[in-house]
Amino acid sequence: MAEGKIIKISGPLVIAEGMREANMFDVVRVGRDRLIGEIIEMHGDRASIQVYEETAGLGRGDEVISTNSPLCVELGPGLIKNIYDGIQRPLEKMRQAAGDNISKGIDIPALDHEKKWEFVATAKVGDKVSEGDVLGYVDETDVIRHKIMVPPGISGKVDYLLSGKYNVTEKVGELKLDGGKKYPLALAQQWPVRKARPYAEKLPPKVPMITGQRIIDTLFPIAIGGTACVPGPFGSGKTVVQHQLAKWSNVDLVVYIGCGERGNEMTDVLREFPEIIDPRTGKSLMERTVLIANTSDMPVAAREASIYTGITIAEYFRDMGLSVAVIADSTSRWAEALREMSGRLEEMPGDEGYPAYLTSRLAQFYERAGDVTCLGSDGRRGSLTAIGAVSPPGGDISEPVSQATLRIVKVFWGLDASLAYKRHFPAINWLTSYSLYKDRLEGWYSENIDGSWSTVSNEIAKILQNEAELEEIVKLVGVDALSPSDRLILEAARSIREDFLQQNAFTSEDSYTSLGKQYALVKLIFYFRDRAAEALDRGADIEKISDLPVREKIGRAKEVDENEYANKYAALRGEIDRELASI
Ligand code: ADP
Ligand code: MG
Repeated sequence: MAEGKIIKISGPLVIAEGMREANMFDVVRVGRDRLIGEIIEMHGDRASIQVYEETAGLGRGDEVISTNSPLCVELGPGLIKNIYDGIQRPLEKMRQAAGDNISKGIDIPALDHEKKWEFVATAKVGDKVSEGDVLGYVDETDVIRHKIMVPPGISGKVDYLLSGKYNVTEKVGELKLDGGKKYPLALAQQWPVRKARPYAEKLPPKVPMITGQRIIDTLFPIAIGGTACVPGPFGSGKTVVQHQLAKWSNVDLVVYIGCGERGNEMTDVLREFPEIIDPRTGKSLMERTVLIANTSDMPVAAREASIYTGITIAEYFRDMGLSVAVIADSTSRWAEALREMSGRLEEMPGDEGYPAYLTSRLAQFYERAGDVTCLGSDGRRGSLTAIGAVSPPGGDISEPVSQATLRIVKVFWGLDASLAYKRHFPAINWLTSYSLYKDRLEGWYSENIDGSWSTVSNEIAKILQNEAELEEIVKLVGVDALSPSDRLILEAARSIREDFLQQNAFTSEDSYTSLGKQYALVKLIFYFRDRAAEALDRGADIEKISDLPVREKIGRAKEVDENEYANKYAALRGEIDRELASI
């Protein structure tokens, strides 16, 4: 075991000598309080250590002990509903043990080691099993059946395996490994966070993750197993978008990482999520949520760990054959922590002081997303969808973190300060945002919603594009100079923006819209436009058309109940016909 002494302390960075026997990325315990740190650079017998806890109080000469093990997470029943700090310490338990000021170096296991779970063995004695094979399960929450799997790299014959009540560390059975050795089986396993968990095969994503957010599902969809980013300046709605995705997406499990953002946003999650009923399961949202909190008042160095901890937990549930979403708010705060560390390490700075490895770190995170065939002989499918907020200073996405992220992810939901200022929410800019999955998802939409889905979606984009061009003309010569048909395009665009794209996250009628209703709502807006165009041809006045009372009803159509929209929209089409006939 390597035992060294501190020679230098610089904020969260500690340099120790006498560490020759330690390895890169070993977890170390630092000083009298046994603070938790990780070796991030080795030069001879000198180790540079990023310390995940407050380093005030450390002194030169204090001892540093390597644990000879990389930073690992504990994976097993009890993860769900929990809220962890960046290095997977359960915040609630820590508070109970140490009060509000989390005491340093505290050792509390990530999973509850006392709690007994009802384990149901499904593998039989004598079965030949290998990595990823399911040995049995625990019903962890009302909605998640937690599969107990053979850990990666292990294969053998089931020597014994017993159903019953166990805590996560007790032996539930034993494998006889291919080499003849015995291997104890327990409900929990460990995994090093910096290493992606293996799977059998990555598949091209082709099913959309349905979010109930109209601008996302209809214009810029994300695939199950895909990657997306949400860049935007302060106050533009990044956190609200991510909360909406965590609440409404049709995934089995959400891992939400609060990384360096304000603590009260995590409090919002904790207050709201238990109250929200997941429409798919009829149970509280917390039954499918794992929270990682490394908020702005917590140590900067642990931001990076929080990202890895979160995605590793997500991979573990993916491995069970679940569809999982990882949502990180904000990856910029993690990048800033990398920059700070890199500066303290006196590395050669890259663009705007960020380290040269910024892009590869971000890429490694997003590359862990995917739609996969899991390990295990049953060939089950799982997926991990990764979504990260980016907070470019001043909202200018030419900065390095945004640019690096854009090169990696396939969906860009760009939030706009000017839209937020006008209270157009979600403030996703429809002209600059994109989804590279759109073509690949067309087949699914066409089969499951309507054959003309992609035509309709493209038409929306075209109308909004036309609007932007016409606005330029209006700026120069005024709206009166436009032809009636161009004015109708502006009307249609306004209706799309206000009656379709704007979506209030905070009212129950509008927070979520099913795909069927999204499609019907667009068709309703198009119906008005098409009938209005016919009226124009008959010589009707465009001003009168814009002022028809039914326009306001179309504006409220998004609030119509999911069970009633078909009838109500049909009735509205009748009203449109009648009102247009009367002018
Ligand atoms: P950011 O995380 O980008 O700093 P927030 O997500 O905290 O911004 O959003 C700032 C404010 O914008 C919210 O408190 C809310 O008032 C408003 N807002 C954002 N999105 C929506 C939405 N979809 N519906 C209604 N209000 C919204
Ligand atoms: Mg925010």
